[in-house]
Amino acid sequence: MIETVTGPIDAAELGTTLVHEHLLAWDEAVHLQWPHLGTGALDPTPADVPPDGVFDVAAGCAEGLVDRGVRSICDPTAMLLGRDVAFMRRVSERTGLQVVACTGIYTYDHLPMFFQSRDEDFMADCFVHDIEAGIQGTDAKAAFIKCAADEPGVIPTIEKVHRAAARASVRTGAPIMAHSRPASDTAPRQLDIFEEEGVDLERVQVAHTGDTDDLDYIERLLQRGVLIGMDRYGLELYLPYERRNATVIALLERGYADRMFLSADYCATLDWFPREVAEQLIAAGAEKDWSMNLVPDKVIPELRDLGMTDDQLETMMVDNPRRWLEG
Ligand SMILES: [Zn+2]
Repeated sequence: MIETVTGPIDAAELGTTLVHEHLLAWDEAVHLQWPHLGTGALDPTPADVPPDGVFDVAAGCAEGLVDRGVRSICDPTAMLLGRDVAFMRRVSERTGLQVVACTGIYTYDHLPMFFQSRDEDFMADCFVHDIEAGIQGTDAKAAFIKCAADEPGVIPTIEKVHRAAARASVRTGAPIMAHSRPASDTAPRQLDIFEEEGVDLERVQVAHTGDTDDLDYIERLLQRGVLIGMDRYGLELYLPYERRNATVIALLERGYADRMFLSADYCATLDWFPREVAEQLIAAGAEKDWSMNLVPDKVIPELRDLGMTDDQLETMMVDNPRRWLEG
């Protein structure tokens, strides 16, 4: 069985799955304190979304996937990125898209005082609560654990989150999704911590590995047993689209179909930038065709043209998500 926001499903019902898509991405503290503020998007339409419009945007994304035969998403929106399980459940009930939620903390550097003054085991207890009892007072359970390392590297606050994620994984069997930054070489240290804590690295998904086309770097990660996220299609600022596809094809040729996920890391809404900054980023080419539909609409047909087989596609879109979540 696999937990979703509307309850457990048989693993065979997971179906075609995008493992890294966000129905909501905003700063939960800001939106609790100033609920009149809406959110934006890196996508030019809509550039600004009022608070009462966020649900419709997310539901529209989910509907688009259902229309294309995608049955499930994993939504790695954790603490500090606005995780809201009631919101995810409403989107799922409205559209029929199965949504797999996570526990964990999404930070590249700071932690709230609450967690600075408490240890890794306390943090792990919080994650275990979400996995075993349910998220935010509901009976919807987390199915995986999210943590992140980015440009600042694996500094002490980030190491603490990784150790807590690892301990919660060891205690519950839940898999881990670790946001990484290849340009900062974060993944080797992230994996060292998981190993020190006794995590089986076959349960770890190294998100954003597709932000590099350095095959030596990628194979060094794969040799440790992990799964990798080729999961930011459309985000040109990290790696242009064509180089992402060329990398996936090269890895398929080397026999890694059973180790890769395809996704876009799309955020239905995103409040990271004021509108004028988002527009500058778009004008500078930061994203191209970025959409929750990008993988089914463009990536998959083009990978097919480049030689990907139906079996390889099924492995990446159906079998790998199931195996990662199921254990
Ligand atoms: Zn993400």
